[in-house]
Amino acid sequence: MPKSEAFKQIVSYSAWPLVFFGGLTGAYFTFSGEHPLIAFSAVYAGAVAVLFLLERYIPYEGNWLEPDGETANDIAHTLLTKGLLEVAALLAAIFPMLAASILQPLVALQFSLWPSELPMIVQAALGVTIAEFGLYWSHRIAHEKLFFWRFHALHHSVTRLWVVNTGRFHVMDSLFKITLSQIPLYLLGAPLEVFWWLGAVTAFIGILTHCNVDMRTGVFDYVFSTPRLHRWHHSKEIREGNTNYGENIVVFDLLFGTYFNPDRPSSTDIGIKGQIAQGFLQQLAQPFTKEGVRQILGLKPKRN
Ligand SMILES: [Zn+2]
Ligand SMILES: [Zn+2]
Repeated sequence: MPKSEAFKQIVSYSAWPLVFFGGLTGAYFTFSGEHPLIAFSAVYAGAVAVLFLLERYIPYEGNWLEPDGETANDIAHTLLTKGLLEVAALLAAIFPMLAASILQPLVALQFSLWPSELPMIVQAALGVTIAEFGLYWSHRIAHEKLFFWRFHALHHSVTRLWVVNTGRFHVMDSLFKITLSQIPLYLLGAPLEVFWWLGAVTAFIGILTHCNVDMRTGVFDYVFSTPRLHRWHHSKEIREGNTNYGENIVVFDLLFGTYFNPDRPSSTDIGIKGQIAQGFLQQLAQPFTKEGVRQILGLKPKRN
C-alpha cells in the first residue's frame, strides 16, 4: 500500500473519535471559562473547519462535493434554528427557577429527583440518555406521521450530505424536537450545565453524522449515531430510511427495533420522493399550505 493511502486509512479510523472526544474536551475547558457559550462556539467552528477540510481529503462520495444550489438555504435554516436555540438556552437558565418557584409547592418531590451529587460526567450521560428518548420518538413520529413529515421532509430533501446541511431543519421540526427532549429534564430539575453538555454532544454528533468524510466508526456504531448509520437514515429507500432515528445515541433504535447497519457501504442514493420549494421563505411556508403539502408528499397537484 502506498504511503499516502496508509495515511488516509489512519485518518479515516481516527477522524470520528478525534473530532467527537476532542470537541468534548474543548467544551470541558470552555464551560469552566468566563464566556462559556462564546468560547464553545469557537471550538464548534474549529470542528466544522476540520470536517470541511477532511471532506476534501477523504470524501465518502466525490459527487457530493459539487454545489447543489442549496448552500445559502442550508445556512439560513441553520442560523434561524440556532438563533432559537440561543433563546432556548437563555430560557433554560431562568425557566427551571421560575417553574420551580411556581410548581415546587405543588410537586416538591419531582424537583428533588435529579442526582446533582453525582459527578458531572455521569449527570451529562444521564441527561443525554433522557433527552434521547424524546429525540428518538419525535424523530420517529416525524417520519411515520404525515402531519409531522411535512416539516421534517426539508431536512431529507438534500441530495448530498455534507457538513453545511447539518442545521437544515424546518423551525417547527426543531421546536417539536426540543420540546419533547428537554421538558423531561426541566421537570426532573436538571442543572443548566447538563443542558450545556447535551447541547455540546448534539452539536458534535450532528456535524459528524452529516459530514461527507469516509470515516470508519466500527464499535462506535453500536453506541453513537455515526455518519455510517445516519447515511442509511437519509436513503431514498423507505425500508432503509425509516431506521436509525437516534440523534446522539442508538440505544432506543436497538431497543425498539429500528437499528439498521447492514454489512455494506451505506447508501449514496439519498433524498425524498416529493418536491421542496426553491427559496428559503418558500421552504418555511410550504408545509402550511395545502398545495405545498401535496408537493412535499409527491402527490399530483389537485385539478380545479
Ligand atoms: Zn429523519
Ligand atoms: Zn440528517
